[in-house]
Amino acid sequence: MKRSLKFSLNKGNADKILALEKLYAEYIRTVNIFTTSLFNKQELSETYLKSLRSPLSCRYRQCAKRQAFKIFKSWCRNKKKGEKPVLRGSMILDYRFIEIQKSENSFDYWAKIATLNKGKPILIPFKSYDYANKYFNNWKLVNGGRLQKRDNGWFLLLTFEKETPKTKESGKVIGVDTGIKKLMVDSNGNQYGKEIEPLMNKIQRKQQGSKAFKRALKERDEYINKTVKEFPLNDKKVIVLENIKDIKKNTKKEKRLNKQFRSKFQRWTYSKLISRIQQLSEVDGVHCQMIAPAWTSQTCSRCGFVHKLNRNGEIFKCRNCDCTLDADWNASLNILNLGLTQQSMVAGNMKGNICL
Ligand SMILES: [Zn+2]
Repeated sequence: MKRSLKFSLNKGNADKILALEKLYAEYIRTVNIFTTSLFNKQELSETYLKSLRSPLSCRYRQCAKRQAFKIFKSWCRNKKKGEKPVLRGSMILDYRFIEIQKSENSFDYWAKIATLNKGKPILIPFKSYDYANKYFNNWKLVNGGRLQKRDNGWFLLLTFEKETPKTKESGKVIGVDTGIKKLMVDSNGNQYGKEIEPLMNKIQRKQQGSKAFKRALKERDEYINKTVKEFPLNDKKVIVLENIKDIKKNTKKEKRLNKQFRSKFQRWTYSKLISRIQQLSEVDGVHCQMIAPAWTSQTCSRCGFVHKLNRNGEIFKCRNCDCTLDADWNASLNILNLGLTQQSMVAGNMKGNICL
């Protein structure tokens, strides 16, 4: 398993930052020449690379070429009308261009970065933080790194890896419904993250892109992280979750989800929440089983009766058997049932194969 962490490079002095700026400008220019060439179906031959007028070293040109290919490939996969493939993100540098060293003095680490001046790399100090120390100490740092320029300065992204623990063989199977009134409700009726709604409203009140908007997003992310951490994993073997990716296709079927996730911020919140649950589960050897949403909010978890009017806001009341409970709890019970059905089908198929 891999995790990426971000570090600020703002401790670098003006000269070093200037060297970084120059490298970045030239690197971006070169990558974008390459992506334009690929766009125009031109081959990026060695001769072409050498013929380019640029202070970038041959190695850096190769590096830019690799990144141009990546950008072009991903552009081919999701072409947008009128848009050309360009570098928007970070510089992806391998071990030949960036090296991380542990520092003896007050700064925690140094990033040694090759610049436009051949043989004269710069050393930029950066500080670790509590959360990152755990990774520096217990995970393996992957060679290389990404350099990112943002409005508020320069950042370094490092990747850490560790062997993925085996999934547990014993433990509870639990269904989890995710929503915007409560982030998570499990099939035992436990609720987590009940204060998410005001945070979402706050985001929507702010002007997109403003400082206050970014602060509100950060606050939401922290709340998601805190909530997922509160969810106990130690006694679990499998967590069953609905897969948001299927929601688009099922909009007519699943009006509730459509309504809940109509705003893109809610979509992002959902995917953040899911990936956070998946990350923490992975570390603990808990399997996340993703199922397609299927009327989980309208179905009675006790008798299986499906009706739109079964649900009334946060309350579920079955029109067939009168079973009454929290609507999200009911949904999570259905999610659990769907997960268990799927598991027994898979097990059944496997048995069938053995018989054959
Ligand atoms: Zn019922």
